[in-house]
Amino acid sequence: MERAEGIRNFVDGAFVEPTGGQYLDNIEPATGKPYSEVPDSDGRDVELAVTAAEKAFPEWSRTPAADRSRILLRIADLIERDLEKLARAESIDTGKPLSLARNLDIPRAASNFRFFATAILHTENEAHVTEGVAFNYTLRQPRGLVGLISPWNLPLYLLSWKIAPAIACGNTAIAKPSELTPMTAYLLCAISREAGLPDGVLNIVHGTGPKVGQPITAHLKVNTISFTGGTVTGKKVAETCAPMFKKVSLELGGKNPNIVFADADLDAAITGSVRSSFANQGQVCLCGSRVFVERSAYESFVDRFLEKTSQLKVGDPLEATTDQGAIVSKTQLEKVKFYVGLAQQEGGKIALGGSVPPAPNERCKEGYFFPPTVIKDLPVSCRVNREEIFGPVVSITPFDSEEEVIGYANDCDYGLASSVWTQNLNRAHRVAEQIHTGTVWVNCWLVRDLRVPFGGMKQSGVGREGGNEALHFFTEPKNICIAK
Ligand code: NAD
Repeated sequence: MERAEGIRNFVDGAFVEPTGGQYLDNIEPATGKPYSEVPDSDGRDVELAVTAAEKAFPEWSRTPAADRSRILLRIADLIERDLEKLARAESIDTGKPLSLARNLDIPRAASNFRFFATAILHTENEAHVTEGVAFNYTLRQPRGLVGLISPWNLPLYLLSWKIAPAIACGNTAIAKPSELTPMTAYLLCAISREAGLPDGVLNIVHGTGPKVGQPITAHLKVNTISFTGGTVTGKKVAETCAPMFKKVSLELGGKNPNIVFADADLDAAITGSVRSSFANQGQVCLCGSRVFVERSAYESFVDRFLEKTSQLKVGDPLEATTDQGAIVSKTQLEKVKFYVGLAQQEGGKIALGGSVPPAPNERCKEGYFFPPTVIKDLPVSCRVNREEIFGPVVSITPFDSEEEVIGYANDCDYGLASSVWTQNLNRAHRVAEQIHTGTVWVNCWLVRDLRVPFGGMKQSGVGREGGNEALHFFTEPKNICIAK
């Protein structure tokens, strides 16, 4: 078959073959067929990237913030110029609907660059006066070489959420996108070169976790690691980094509760819940996969939720009418099927979906499709209600009191995000305060102000991204104390 543009590593401002000359197939999830190749790089390629990043660091770290800002703003402009090309690439690579890539992923990548390009122009230095004795002021300096590792679900969106603050602060970066979805990271390299980013400031090494991710996290010269991915991988990253005292940010999995009280605006709650359940085929770490509904509203909510969900069209991601595209990989599809089977063994009843649908068209006949699936009557603390599925599968459970549902929400190893639907303001504050998640949305979902702290508690991670949190993460505070 005809193959798309071959992906190469980006090191020291140049596109290069992997040292070992090996490539992996890059599969299009909607067709189940390889459509390009991705370098199967290894530690030698990481070494080249580290050398380039090390060489670029002194000058880039001394480049005035205003100049760094101008380059990042140009990157944002060029992402917007290439919106259609990038959105199409993202859709083909991930299986997500083209409309979603066009309206969410790519615009957000541009916003990430623009946000941090301007944020570095508005920072303040802290000063502390030790009365009669000394003045202290705090310098925040770039940390040096940073490693940035990202997952497949929102490829350019999440990688740029790391690259932008890292290089805006004056660091140089070695980035690794997921081997399943490398295309937009590759396209970003040409954009960053066109924008005038100096060679070696951003290096992208493609390949698998063990062969590329691990050498990045283990490299002595890379002192900062920002990782987004699964909890099991996050543990490995933490184990590697801890003995070297690296600064580490881990954004990991979730099993997010979505709580609907009977006093909610049910129209808004249903629309919001369908979106939070199935956006990007349920493959957003923030999706609300455990829906809890107050008993007096339960029957009516479920009927209307099922009706609205059944209107979602599973289809070819490139078609304009598609709401639900393909699952990212065969492995992920098998995982989703496994959990749907397990749900039935655990006593759940499938109220909607639950089995592989007919192929949407001839082109997609071997694609990885699964319909939005709703499971009722599961015990609250069963495996399906505790483990991350990361697919278009939600459970719905009734509850009787505020106290009970807070217990349900918190009875989980994860603590990334939650949604609460109620028109009672006091209840909204009361419940939000008691839920153990890094973000609580009230009467909304996925409203993302880039200034707010973003991240999870418990097994959902360590550290926060966004706004000042990211600027602080990618800099080293140094106190200068001057005697009076
Ligand atoms: P993953 O953990 O399998 O992979 C993530 C990245 O880590 C990939 O680039 C992978 O190649 C790399 N990797 C794998 N092994 C490694 C190792 N030993 N050392 C270093 N890097 C390694 O995750 P995934 O399947 O790509 O993504 C899905 C997961 O990501 C889900 O659990 C989801 O909840 C999570 N996620 C979290 C957030 C968040 O902000 N908290 C956002 C998106 C996705």
